[in-house]
Amino acid sequence: MSIAGPAQMRAGLTSKEAAARLRAEGPNRLPVARRIPAWRRLLAEMVHFFALLFWVAGALAFVAGMPQLGVAVFVVIVLNGLFAFAQEQRAEHAAERLSELLPRRATVVRDGVAGQVPAEDLVVGDVVLLAEGDRISADLRLDVVHALAVDTSALTGESVPEHPAVGQAAPAGCFVIEGEARATVEATGQNTRLAGIARLTQAQRPAPTPLRKELDRVSRIIAVVAVMVGAVFFGVALLVGTPPSAGFLFAVGVTVAVVPEGLLPTVTLSLAMGAQRMAGRHALVRNLDAVETLGSTTFICTDKTGTLTRNEMSVVEVWMPDGTATIDGNGYEPVATVHWAGDDAPLRDVAWVAARCSSGRVSEKDGRWVPHGDPMEAALDAFARRVGVDTDDGAHAAPERARFPFDARRRRMSVVTGNRVLVKGAPDSVFPRCAVPPGAVEALRALARRGLRVLAVAARDLTTAEAPGSAAEAERDLTLLGLIALEDPPRQGAAAALAACRRAGIRVAMVTGDHPDTARAIAAEVGLLGPEQLVVTGRDLPAADADLGALLDHDGVVVARVTPEDKLRIARALRHRGHVVAMTGDGVNDAPALREAAIGVAMGRSGTDVAREASDLVLLDDNFSTIVAAVEQGRATFANLRRFLTYHLTDNVAELAPFVVWALSAGTFPLAIGVLQVLALDIGTDVLPALALGAEPAAAHVLDRPPTHGHLLDGRLFARAFGVLGPVEAAVELGAFLTAFLALGWRPGAPFPHGPALLAASGAAFSAVVFGQVANAFACRSTLRPAWTVPWRTNRLLLGAVAAELAMLAAFLYVPPLAHLLGQTGPSRAGWLTALLAVPAVLAADTMYKRLRGSGPGPRARRRRVG
Ligand code: ADP
Ligand code: MG
Repeated sequence: MSIAGPAQMRAGLTSKEAAARLRAEGPNRLPVARRIPAWRRLLAEMVHFFALLFWVAGALAFVAGMPQLGVAVFVVIVLNGLFAFAQEQRAEHAAERLSELLPRRATVVRDGVAGQVPAEDLVVGDVVLLAEGDRISADLRLDVVHALAVDTSALTGESVPEHPAVGQAAPAGCFVIEGEARATVEATGQNTRLAGIARLTQAQRPAPTPLRKELDRVSRIIAVVAVMVGAVFFGVALLVGTPPSAGFLFAVGVTVAVVPEGLLPTVTLSLAMGAQRMAGRHALVRNLDAVETLGSTTFICTDKTGTLTRNEMSVVEVWMPDGTATIDGNGYEPVATVHWAGDDAPLRDVAWVAARCSSGRVSEKDGRWVPHGDPMEAALDAFARRVGVDTDDGAHAAPERARFPFDARRRRMSVVTGNRVLVKGAPDSVFPRCAVPPGAVEALRALARRGLRVLAVAARDLTTAEAPGSAAEAERDLTLLGLIALEDPPRQGAAAALAACRRAGIRVAMVTGDHPDTARAIAAEVGLLGPEQLVVTGRDLPAADADLGALLDHDGVVVARVTPEDKLRIARALRHRGHVVAMTGDGVNDAPALREAAIGVAMGRSGTDVAREASDLVLLDDNFSTIVAAVEQGRATFANLRRFLTYHLTDNVAELAPFVVWALSAGTFPLAIGVLQVLALDIGTDVLPALALGAEPAAAHVLDRPPTHGHLLDGRLFARAFGVLGPVEAAVELGAFLTAFLALGWRPGAPFPHGPALLAASGAAFSAVVFGQVANAFACRSTLRPAWTVPWRTNRLLLGAVAAELAMLAAFLYVPPLAHLLGQTGPSRAGWLTALLAVPAVLAADTMYKRLRGSGPGPRARRRRVG
């Protein structure tokens, strides 16, 4: 690479030596903070808030002389804890597998050639090249620096950048935020300073994420409500003259009925499964919450190069004051047809300067020419070779005396070599620093309008022996040598992905550092440009955030010539308008914008480590379509979470109703189902279908609707569970209970029968709830369509789960010890028939509700999430 010029490049280690050292020293792996031991995490699952509540209830049951109930409650706690532990374990493994998809890499010089190796393979003595945005992966000693600034906050906690000089250290875990350097590895793995610090901070629990906090909050509210409801009912029971022990039983039942056991771990697992599916589509989420947020994305700000375009660049035209050359080549091949009528010298000079300023190169591999480094930079090397400049021949190159690297604000870079300053950069950043020959401005516009990316190359002869000390000093009084136009074709699938966004009600803006004309042409080509044809440049953006938000809040806006600061403002302004913004970024300076956006999107192939570190989502293939795929999966996961939450909450009504009726009748109406039956529903029959709903495949139409707002538990969900499906289930349950009595000759007004008749009636009520839940499981598969129109085979898991649910029901009714413990027996024929009515009743209520909702106000009105 060009950091010190080919002529002076240090050879580095030989690969043989490096391999030998790697065997001796071991891999450059930083110690992972030791995990909390499994037994402690298992224990934690047994002593959290809900569990404690249950322990107390179980203990009180013993005190009140109901050891059966006490034991049952304890069994529930343990089963529940084991279940939660297993779920979290699976979620954690999934997260671990994800992080392996994006291994850290480092650029090292070995056998005299610079190349990328996994950071784990670094050994002491390796020569490492650092560029802006790199994460430093071993303790280094600096040999050459160019305008280097390092962020050491990972080690020191100070966020002030340091400017280490030659001979000083650059420790592992820090980031290069500016400039370039060459350095030698001094310590790896356990011997790094970072390892020492990591050891100190081991076993720290990660900070809870926002979703986690919301779920904790919700479950705490539910717990408090549960206890309060239980206490009120206990009071009522005492008032109506129930013996305290029965009243207590009653209170426990109510509490247990309200608490959704196993909810939190199931949510976590569902998110982890969503993340896994995203990874299968090249979208890597860096925290599980992002899965949920992605689903509610309303605005995507994407850059152009590499995301919408293929990032396969080639120089197609070169404008020079003497005329225009066209180059007709294939990929990165070093030969091409060059149409150029004029003198060879100026064309070669343009090519030579471009190549000298380039950090990329092309080489032949298995008969194909492949780029190394940034594709644009590699394209410049190919271009130089195509016009006959031998870029391999380092001997001719004068040593580099100074180097001012590219940065996204200046939009240019320069090197000083021999007695010349060589500059390459965006034309409008170079033009003010040189005498612009006639025709250049027109040529620039014409090239940009064709969607070509244009670079200006310029130079100045030095008159003094001393090299300029700063970029400003070097990059002045230049002579424009030419304009290089590069073609970068749009990605296949970009247009389709943009159309999908449009259908999904997601706005897309192009936010690019490139020329407005280039940006407009590409935007038009891929179908991004909106009906307003709005193209603005960073400089023209309104100063007030409110105006900025109003300007951009349309579909298909193009913002060109943006600085990283503009991107930050855009993310903030759109957020203030209530948007959930996904924003791409690749440079060091993009990190604040990536953090400001609800979903910061970084690239897995191009872009910097700093950007990846600041992001929530990494596109492993750098492709815009992958963002859309991730949004789709996010929506699907979100819908699944709501599916099983609805499913889980629905039977709370059916569980609570018998207690309410019992209390309202002052104890004369017997309990249709008791505490142990409630537990059998919650942690028995309900569990598998809930899990299967969490695995529901993405509905084909998830992207055909506007985004819904981002709260998991909202009024709509509660209305469906508690207002519609739950009451229907409860009605059938109590109906089955009464019918069982009626069939035996009992008539209203007469005292209720006891003994076997009551047990069989209770069995009928219990069966009704289970049947209701079977229908409910299918009803929850779609939020729009009636249950029977959703194909069966798309969720085979659910079929299995329902089969298991029915088998459990049979066991609870007909296996004598179980049935005896729960306090029920198999229902009579009348009981069975009424219980089975739960299926059509729930399906009918669900279908009617879906019809009504379908004609009601659409979800667009509630799209916005505040804050
Ligand atoms: P994009 O949004 O397309 O990725 P960038 O911010 O990367 O845009 O680049 C903006 C402009 O800066 C480019 O159009 C080009 O003219 C110039 N530029 C980009 N990279 C370099 C570089 N390495 N050296 C010189 N000029 C560059
Ligand atoms: Mg770029």
